[in-house]
Amino acid sequence: MSHPFKPALVYLLLAAPALAAAQHPVALVIHGGAGVIERAKMTPAAEASYRAGLGAALDAGYAVLEKGGSSLDAVTAAVRVMEDDPQFNAGRGAVLNHQGDAELDAAIMDGSGPHAGAVAAVHHVKNPIELARLVMEQSPHVLLVGDGAEEFALEHGVVLVPRTYFRTERRERELEEARKAEAAKAKAAGITASGTVGAVALDRAGNLAAATSTGGLTNKHLGRVGDSPLIGAGTYANNATCAVSGTGDGEYFIRQVLAYDICALVAYRHLTLQQAVHEVIHEKLQRTGGEGGVIALDPAGHVAMDFNSAGMFRGARDSQGKRVIGMYGDDLQ
Ligand code: ASP
Repeated sequence: MSHPFKPALVYLLLAAPALAAAQHPVALVIHGGAGVIERAKMTPAAEASYRAGLGAALDAGYAVLEKGGSSLDAVTAAVRVMEDDPQFNAGRGAVLNHQGDAELDAAIMDGSGPHAGAVAAVHHVKNPIELARLVMEQSPHVLLVGDGAEEFALEHGVVLVPRTYFRTERRERELEEARKAEAAKAKAAGITASGTVGAVALDRAGNLAAATSTGGLTNKHLGRVGDSPLIGAGTYANNATCAVSGTGDGEYFIRQVLAYDICALVAYRHLTLQQAVHEVIHEKLQRTGGEGGVIALDPAGHVAMDFNSAGMFRGARDSQGKRVIGMYGDDLQ
């Protein structure tokens, strides 16, 4: 005869992990680039359009988490939406290099492994974040560049597009201005916000993920690779500490390995996520003269969105009902 309490106990034991999992907070944070984003320079129509673009990415990624999907799927979905939106500097709207071509970089990292995949200097990949993910999941490597990355894309049925797909009128104009500024030996171009995109997410299973995708810098040298596809520089995730996606002056992020540094401060100096982000952006990056920002998430769902540039396109949504979108320095204070 079975014990009368046994079925209830068995039910509780079976249900407990599911209940706990269902209560685990989920969160998604995105950015659409940091830079000279000021009210005085923005028309109401442009502001509304950026807000709509950020909102669409935020909701696409959050829908994945809400259905119990993984943080990896959530960051991929959010970044893909921004890669397809020509107002951001990634995918379709990527800025052009000195030769007039888009040269794309992207990385994704799964904090549960940790596992990572990245691509750099690709010219024909419609959604570089998907290729970065394939590198992580279908190859023994972390980073593939140039022709080799595109050959890998072909082998895996990734959508490839002609170079003209990325030559939008706005980016052609910006390149022209940058070339003129260069010819006049003016300080690197006075280009506005670059619009790199990124996302970090925490899912119901407690896994963190980070993703970043970019065209890099307007008028950059052929072959220049930024921080976004370099694990630890512009992209990093580890379930034990945090997930980070950066944007801004890539060379500064590379030299000081800033994304990893934030998570290291959490791990080794036991700083809160906010403190670690503040120290890295407002002390380390600031001290060297670099400009930019990061979005970050920790395993408890704490969110950080910080920058030392005039503004940063950004948004966050979580299971506590928060949904915010900002762009200027004084938004979301
Ligand atoms: N960090 C990117 C790069 O240097 C550009 C940006 O985020 O503005 O490639």
